[in-house]
Amino acid sequence: MIEFLNLRRVNAPHEAALQAAQQRVLRSGWYILGEETAAFEADFARYCGTRHCIGVANGLDALVLILRALGIGAGDEVIVPANTFIATWLAVCQVGAQPVPVDPRPDTGNLDPARLAAALTPRTRAVMPVHLYGQTAEMEPIATFARQHGLYVVEDAAQAHGARYRGARAGALGVAAGFSFYPGKNLGALGDGGAITTDDDELASRLRALRNYGSRKKYVHEFIGVNSRLDELQSAMLRVKLPALDAENAVRAQLAARYLRGLEDVAVELPATAEHCEPVWHLFVVRVDERERVQRELAARGIATLIHYPAACHRQQAFAERPWPALPVSEALAGRVLSLPISPVHTPAEIDAVIAALAEIVGPRRSGSA
Ligand SMILES: *Cc1c(COP(=O)(O)O)cnc(C)c1O
Repeated sequence: MIEFLNLRRVNAPHEAALQAAQQRVLRSGWYILGEETAAFEADFARYCGTRHCIGVANGLDALVLILRALGIGAGDEVIVPANTFIATWLAVCQVGAQPVPVDPRPDTGNLDPARLAAALTPRTRAVMPVHLYGQTAEMEPIATFARQHGLYVVEDAAQAHGARYRGARAGALGVAAGFSFYPGKNLGALGDGGAITTDDDELASRLRALRNYGSRKKYVHEFIGVNSRLDELQSAMLRVKLPALDAENAVRAQLAARYLRGLEDVAVELPATAEHCEPVWHLFVVRVDERERVQRELAARGIATLIHYPAACHRQQAFAERPWPALPVSEALAGRVLSLPISPVHTPAEIDAVIAALAEIVGPRRSGSA
């Protein structure tokens, strides 16, 4: 049996340190906005190469609070990838703005900079690239476009802790970035958690207030804020796991390289890496024909797979009633993507078994085709 992701196994190497950290928090008697969160924020800002990190309750809140802090709301538009986890779109809707979807580059599945111009209107305020599956979007052409049109670039970095673009980390590639520490992410807590990174002092100060009832000083409320804080217990868990993140991402990269080599002559389409990008392989996503059969036959051999994501956001019921542009690339991807097992605790032997099974099920690549 090859599981897709076993979080018990992922956290097992950290067990003793996690237990010690839990006990430290328990005995501190201080559970919200204390030393653990402050220390994690400093550690994560340093890791990302940003001046600030603001811990929040989850990744969705991180994105929502960034948009609110930038003053984006009703009547505004935000350009988003059509193919992403739904949270990207929900964040835009939560502040009352309109998501304007664009189709991705077919090879990487990431936001296609060439399609931004067609999505621009006088109401556009921001572009929100998603570093999908652990690979950063192509930030330089996106930043150039944003600069030309006076737009903010807000990163959805929920799948890309540690990924690099031209050497800089995800989180340091826009005006601000939203991270998720959902347990299955590359840096995962033992519950919900999220963070915002930014270099902008004033934005950081506003975000610290917004996440805490709009208050910078106890019982003084400048903004209509929310309660969205990363708690001390989760901060302590993340402080244990952050020092291991690079090593864990390196294991993911080795396993991804193994897949790429092993599947070279197999009839699946492999994930492409764009120029200047160093992915952290949150997911390893291939495209296959007859996906249902392939997934079923892998399952029959004890190999678990998932689909990220089975429907483009505009095809979800929540969004079905609005008019959307044609998004054929996203729809085609949604019908063919298949995520293979990858994590820091999968073994090379497990990856080889997946490769062998896939080769049997789909056969060899015909020359000149995927
Ligand atoms: C996980 C994820 C989020 C949301 O994070 P939560 O912590 O679950 O709220 C946002 N965007 C993307 C791309 C994600 O994968």
